[in-house]
Amino acid sequence: MTTKASHASPLAPEWLAVPEDLNALQAPLWAAGVDRTAEGEVAIDGITVSELKEQFGTPLFVMSETDFRVRARGFKDAFDAAFADICGGVDVYYAGKSFLCTAVAQWVAEEGLRLDTCSGGELAVAARAGIPGSKLSLHGNNKSDTEINRALDMKVGRIVVDSLDELQRIARIASGRGEAAKIMLRLTPGVHAHTHEFIATAHEDQKFGLSMAGDTTGEAGLSAAEEAVAAAVSAPGIELLGLHCHIGSQIFEPDGFALAAQKLLAFQAAMQGKYGIVMPELDLGGGYGIAYTPVDTPRPAAEIAEAMAAVVRATCAELGMEAPRISIEPGRAIVGSTTFTLYEVGTLKTVRVDSGNGQDGDGNVTYPRRYVSVDGGMSDNPRPVLYDADYSAVLASRGSVEEPQLSRVVGKHCESGDIVVRDVYLPADVAAGDLLAVPGTGAYCWALSSNYNYLARPGVVAVRDGAARLIVRGETEEDLLNRDMGVANV
Ligand SMILES: *Cc1c(COP(=O)(O)O)cnc(C)c1O
Repeated sequence: MTTKASHASPLAPEWLAVPEDLNALQAPLWAAGVDRTAEGEVAIDGITVSELKEQFGTPLFVMSETDFRVRARGFKDAFDAAFADICGGVDVYYAGKSFLCTAVAQWVAEEGLRLDTCSGGELAVAARAGIPGSKLSLHGNNKSDTEINRALDMKVGRIVVDSLDELQRIARIASGRGEAAKIMLRLTPGVHAHTHEFIATAHEDQKFGLSMAGDTTGEAGLSAAEEAVAAAVSAPGIELLGLHCHIGSQIFEPDGFALAAQKLLAFQAAMQGKYGIVMPELDLGGGYGIAYTPVDTPRPAAEIAEAMAAVVRATCAELGMEAPRISIEPGRAIVGSTTFTLYEVGTLKTVRVDSGNGQDGDGNVTYPRRYVSVDGGMSDNPRPVLYDADYSAVLASRGSVEEPQLSRVVGKHCESGDIVVRDVYLPADVAAGDLLAVPGTGAYCWALSSNYNYLARPGVVAVRDGAARLIVRGETEEDLLNRDMGVANV
């Protein structure tokens, strides 16, 4: 008998191991409640993928509502516990941009979280879901006057200001209404997280935030961040709640968050001393990483919370300042792993490729790479195209005892970069009509979906207590043609 490892393909990336059991649903990629039935089919809360396909079609986003609630509550509880002695707990704002619809907004509120928005459209979803303005924040580097007015109409709890220009605009609009806008200032602390590492730089070259670097404006050596604090303190129509930063996304190590927290707290202490003010709040952003493939090792929320609390506690003691009320903004870490995308397999094709790794002697040895086409692609998950993101996949409609074969799951779009899963071992007998499931697609997939090639965007099904319901219906051909004004709609 051959071992599984002997099926390793020289075309596979180094990190990709041949799974011991191709039918296994490897933790921590899958939502709670996802398992295989005795017959070998993938099911969620006992509902099989073929039942889901039958009822809702494919492609389909399948979300565990239970898992979403557990993760949302988990963040809230873990941070509340870790920060209890520092500032009495933490306000957790779910980053709506990762995935938002009215049902999800309601789950967020029911689990004791608040909601981060960054456009008029996201505010509209929050309003439709009945979320009170006091539980909302509004982000964005280019908010329109309409969006600012809408936020004030909704009495949004905080507007996160991204520039001096915007600060002046909000001051003008709010004071014109005879109100004071509650704002935070988004600063760029020069800490950038890139997946497993973070880098610290003195200067900022990006569109977001106010730079903390000392000489960015040239005026009296004030940083843009300090200039904004000074302006906010004296501007009519502005109530300065505090400072904000968001250092990146898909971050695994707490060091970057800790360094950013230190920098912001030191700056806060300096500003409070210099301008004789108290900023009661501090937001440390989101960006906590999740597992997309078996080699990703996310940390539990409690571990991150404790690491961050330790730094905030020590820094405040060192600075002799009272700790501000802390808030955070996780998106991906709450919704990412709650969802898998269900696809139907269509065309299969195997090409032969030189490994290019120089281990083949004469260089003429080629190896098979199987292309497995599915009925969606970059329109429902553009992350592989946008970010070179890796995913994994399993044969979901049945188990298989066939040998592993290096495969590439691709979509049906007119684009050779239309890849869903770049490298994955799937059973050799995968065939047209089989269903594939790709885990970890809860964040930034549906949210970034498009109608490229006039594909209808998939629906989203939420599963809870053994029942599945549509929370966003899939688009129809009629939806696709609805806004086309060329020929009269009948
Ligand atoms: C995107 C974003 C988040 C959420 O990031 P995740 O990686 O999904 O946790 C939080 N805050 C701000 C300001 C963001 O832009």
